[in-house]
Amino acid sequence: MRRELDDAYARVMDSGWYILGREVEAFEREMAAFVGVTHAVGVGNGMDAIELALRAAGIGAGHEVITTPNSAFATALAVVKCGATPIFVDIDPETYSIDPALVERSITSRTRALLPVHIYGQAADLDPLADIARRHELVLIGDAAQAHAATYRGKDVGRYGLASCYSFYPTKNLGAVGDGGMVVTDDPTIAARIRELRNYGQANRYEHVVIGTNSRLDELQAALLRVKLRYLSQQTERRRAIAERYRAQLAGVPVVLPIERNYGTSAWHLFVVRTSRRDELAAFLAARGIATLVHYPRLLPHQPALGSPGAWPVAERCASEFLSLPIFAELADEEIDAVCTAVRTFFGVS
Ligand SMILES: *Cc1c(COP(=O)(O)O)cnc(C)c1O
Repeated sequence: MRRELDDAYARVMDSGWYILGREVEAFEREMAAFVGVTHAVGVGNGMDAIELALRAAGIGAGHEVITTPNSAFATALAVVKCGATPIFVDIDPETYSIDPALVERSITSRTRALLPVHIYGQAADLDPLADIARRHELVLIGDAAQAHAATYRGKDVGRYGLASCYSFYPTKNLGAVGDGGMVVTDDPTIAARIRELRNYGQANRYEHVVIGTNSRLDELQAALLRVKLRYLSQQTERRRAIAERYRAQLAGVPVVLPIERNYGTSAWHLFVVRTSRRDELAAFLAARGIATLVHYPRLLPHQPALGSPGAWPVAERCASEFLSLPIFAELADEEIDAVCTAVRTFFGVS
């Protein structure tokens, strides 16, 4: 892959064209084809992808957007930045994404959109969410920043709803060497609006029809991402194998293992276990050179910048128990085994 990345870099340098050119156009076509949609629009990052998709769908001041308390802060920030108010609905204790059964009680006359997050790489349960969206005339926009190549009922998660939003932050399953993001959609109007919004609200050169922003995927990132996209399926398979190895070796250990719902295939962005002894386990692993993280230790509405009132008992409990074990395509079987041995030792399971 390194050779191909070097070639892509050289191609962009030789072209002398760095913003909105052939590489971005080609990557947009290739990503749209990969997901199975007709339009893809490259933007500056994943947060902008969500904000611009919401704005293109007409969501703004005075509107409410229903989303999950368990996500990256960018999900909530994108809603706030488009002028709307995020309304947080508790999560499903198995998928850790928004619980469709709890959504309807939070719908008000101001609700305009559902913004599920396919957290850790597994699709939120999209059919019931799409049904609620239809009945209440809400738009459904997916935060797929952790779910490149994940599927739901046999189709890529990016094909559900009005639009889906991706991040190419370096640690994502499809990662750039800087920031990047994309909105995919089958709706030509939404795609055209996002193209305007990302480029100062420009419809034609020097004709600004809306108050837009500057949020463009650059040519260099696009060229590198085109190379990486060709490896995405293979790397997703490797992540799946890693997850299976973890699950087999951690069977019988008193932690809650991640469950893959039978409605789709996870992108295995993260491998998140749950235990009430989370902090102790993290320290035990750290002492053995095994780095873990917590996704996420604090609910979005509990972040000081938001401080939204309400109670999310499932998400609160999970946030105190989540621990993400290492998972990335380059992780070797021996490394997985070492992690599992350490976890088994911690719990005294031989
Ligand atoms: C990473 C991430 C984002 C934000 O993407 P950026 O490219 O960092 O702006 C949004 N939502 C989720 C779920 C993410 O994981």
